[in-house]
Amino acid sequence: MSDGAEIVIRGGVVVDAGGERTADVRVRDGLVVEVGSGLRGGRELDASGCFVAPGLVDLHVHLREPGDEEAETIDTGARAAARGGFTAVVAMPNTDPPLDDAAVVAAVLARGAGSTCDVVSSACITKGRAGVELAPMGELYGLGVRLFTDDGNCVADAGVMRRALEYARSLPGAVVAQHAEDPALARGGHMHEGAWSSRLGIPGRPAAAEDLIVTRDIELAALTGAAVHFLHVSSARAVDMVREAKARGLPVSAEAAPHHFTLTHAACAGFDPLFKVHPPLRTRADVDAIKVGLADGTIDAIATDHAPHTPEAKERTFEEAPPGMLGLETALALTLTELVEPGVLTLADALALLSWRPAALAGIAHRHGGPVAAGRPANLCVIDPAATWEVDPGRLASRARNTPYGGRKLTGRVRHTVLWGEPVVVDTEAQR
Ligand SMILES: [Zn+2]
Repeated sequence: MSDGAEIVIRGGVVVDAGGERTADVRVRDGLVVEVGSGLRGGRELDASGCFVAPGLVDLHVHLREPGDEEAETIDTGARAAARGGFTAVVAMPNTDPPLDDAAVVAAVLARGAGSTCDVVSSACITKGRAGVELAPMGELYGLGVRLFTDDGNCVADAGVMRRALEYARSLPGAVVAQHAEDPALARGGHMHEGAWSSRLGIPGRPAAAEDLIVTRDIELAALTGAAVHFLHVSSARAVDMVREAKARGLPVSAEAAPHHFTLTHAACAGFDPLFKVHPPLRTRADVDAIKVGLADGTIDAIATDHAPHTPEAKERTFEEAPPGMLGLETALALTLTELVEPGVLTLADALALLSWRPAALAGIAHRHGGPVAAGRPANLCVIDPAATWEVDPGRLASRARNTPYGGRKLTGRVRHTVLWGEPVVVDTEAQR
């Protein structure tokens, strides 16, 4: 993509699934061409004091296009992703129209081509995300879709979920991803059902809504042999059940979002809709269980559930505002600050959760997630682990401003992002 332009990333510590070593990285024609010491020439990017890692991969991003371009577009979302160190994101299908149709998916892929981050499309499990009739999964698979989900909605009907899994089994690498919240139990609720919802008088969504669907879908994975992925796992019981399912050898995977390991339901005390999200922020015990699940390998990926909303939407009351919060530009720093610095995860484990494990789940491991080696695609991020910064909602690349972390001081920052050999972020600034 960079038309023969050569870049040398100098003075960093290369880290990928194979380990760490001090090395320079030479990039040309979209590929890594040389990893070694004392490399010079072309344009040089300083990586002293930094880690040079495979670009991050986010399994769960709402880009809002088509249908809600006031909140985010594929272009602004891709820029936010690049600033966050991501070189690939999986776009969720709850757009308007939804991604349940080959023409709409093809349009999203076309809009994403040439942006500052690779945009991978998911597609709906059911037509209109209505949970009744299966979407044309085979045709969508033919366009490259590997992750099917009705995200935002749970596939509540066990028979429909079973048929989706049986169909997915015939599509190598396809994953059926569930937004696990039983709608009958969660309906009318706006935050976690517990001590804080009682105190605030806000109707709650019980953790049991999540736990019931997780236990049901684990049994459906056992019944069908097809791969089930649990989006944004947030309850301690759900983590335990995923751990047990893996011990049974079932094809089950899970992701967790940064807000579910950094915030509790107490954050809703001020009735600020910035903290409203589905599934909701839960208890300290749930947060601790997510951390254990990330550390012991139960949870496969950190995924942001980046959910942009216009200021008007988030200025409504807590009960009227839509759920969701931004994630792309803070995910890595929150992981480093809240998990790596306190010793919950090693840096390599954190990068596994943010890069190569989600790349494998998304079916893009040949393009993203490393290793950083000659002949491999030059999709890289350079991380300064010591940089400290304060989240300023006014300076985000996202079109939206609904981060719950405004004013929070974080340690660790993406310095450069390289996409197919092109530096799309240099010294934390987007290049286009
Ligand atoms: Zn969801």
